[in-house]
Amino acid sequence: MLERCLGIRRVRQIQRAVRHSTVTFLCLFLTVVVLRGTIGAGKFGTPEQDFNEIRGHLYSRGRRVEPHRVLEEAQPDSESDQSNNYATFDISKILVDEEPEEKPDPNKQYSLGPKISDWDERRAEWLKNNPDFPNFIRPNKPRVLLVTGSSPKPCENPVGDHYLLKAIKNKIDYCRLHGIEVFYNMALLDAEMAGFWAKLPLIRKLLLSHPEIEFLWWMDSDAMFTDMAFEVPWERYKDHNFVMHGWNEMVYDEKNWIGLNTGSFLLRNCQWSLDILDAWAPMGPKGKIRDEAGKILTRELKGRPVFEADDQSAMVYLLMKERSTWGDKVYLESAYYLHGYWGILVDRYEEMIENYHPGLGDHRWPLVTHFVGCKPCGKFGDYPVERCLRQMDRAYNFGDNQILQIYGFTHKSLASRRVKRVRNETSNPLEVKDELGLLHPAFKAVKVSTAS
Ligand code: UDP
Ligand code: MN
Repeated sequence: MLERCLGIRRVRQIQRAVRHSTVTFLCLFLTVVVLRGTIGAGKFGTPEQDFNEIRGHLYSRGRRVEPHRVLEEAQPDSESDQSNNYATFDISKILVDEEPEEKPDPNKQYSLGPKISDWDERRAEWLKNNPDFPNFIRPNKPRVLLVTGSSPKPCENPVGDHYLLKAIKNKIDYCRLHGIEVFYNMALLDAEMAGFWAKLPLIRKLLLSHPEIEFLWWMDSDAMFTDMAFEVPWERYKDHNFVMHGWNEMVYDEKNWIGLNTGSFLLRNCQWSLDILDAWAPMGPKGKIRDEAGKILTRELKGRPVFEADDQSAMVYLLMKERSTWGDKVYLESAYYLHGYWGILVDRYEEMIENYHPGLGDHRWPLVTHFVGCKPCGKFGDYPVERCLRQMDRAYNFGDNQILQIYGFTHKSLASRRVKRVRNETSNPLEVKDELGLLHPAFKAVKVSTAS
């Protein structure tokens, strides 16, 4: 039929053309399959993604179609290609959402969250219905959550992030030995409560989400455990809800802004704690409120420099103004260093090693060394950087030596990152006794119920 209409020669031509284009098409298809196999097209490559990736590879690398692995390992072609260099990469390129947040309504009164007034009953009910999550691990051993954190952004300098890592490693060590859980926060839950106030909304959220937690232990990122063997005397606080390092006379009589410290404290999970968080928060919202409140605090508190309202001064102010409301449930602890100011401790570590041993927690072997004012993650601190970093290393190594001794090592000196052996290896590893009994400490043991 076709032959009759077009003539035999014409039909043969068409048939040849069709055969050629089939072969061409097959070749093209095979090329795409092979390219996709060698270059890769992402985990769930769509045809469009395939095409883009293949095009990207061909164009960015000239016409060198080498296996993927080789392309990745290839060195930059010249000195000018710095795309693999972390040191020269500008991190701000990948930080998104950096524009300022919306301004909150200044006429609306700040609140940490919806009013809750029956937390004790609701929590008791929850604990009754969830016996697998008891708030006490043993009598006098409450379930504790240690909470710490840092800004969502990288530090102002890379060394700051290195010290944050050392500080969290130090906390993980202490908490593992003492059967304490850890929560590290990097999210700013409430933009108005940035900086040292960020802990308030976070603490409230965690108390309400974890009724099984009996005590929440807030610890600043710039505080380190320097006594790995000291167990908090929980029994002492059975009638109290809020434990901070401090002195009654300095807070209530002197109204001194350093009469207590809010860098390391214990807060019981109960209605009273939700109430004191509400009473503590109003000076926190940043901007005009925080600035104006700062003026009041500097005027009313002894020794306070001029600066915006901070959570510590606000707590001293609240307690001294409303002692009758809060005072009887607040325990200002000075028998050991729940917080210890680094300035008076770090130069004495060698003397402590000479004369005492871990487990004391006080001036002889401080539980916590807190680098108040060093601000290693910021641009500027209140002290010379060299002094802060040197002393933070000493505190870290002092604490870390107690961990390393479990495994037969110690730092060469408090200034040294390097370690040396203090015990020979043995073919009887289970017979080695660690001096401080930290390998299987009693305070970590849990009583396992045998009921099935
Ligand atoms: N912090 C935080 N998010 C931030 C900034 C600070 O969680 O964006 C925490 C961090 O743990 C820090 C603490 O707030 O240690 C208090 O600040 P800092 O220790 O610098 O104050 P200082 O102890 O020097 O008064
Ligand atoms: Mn601090």
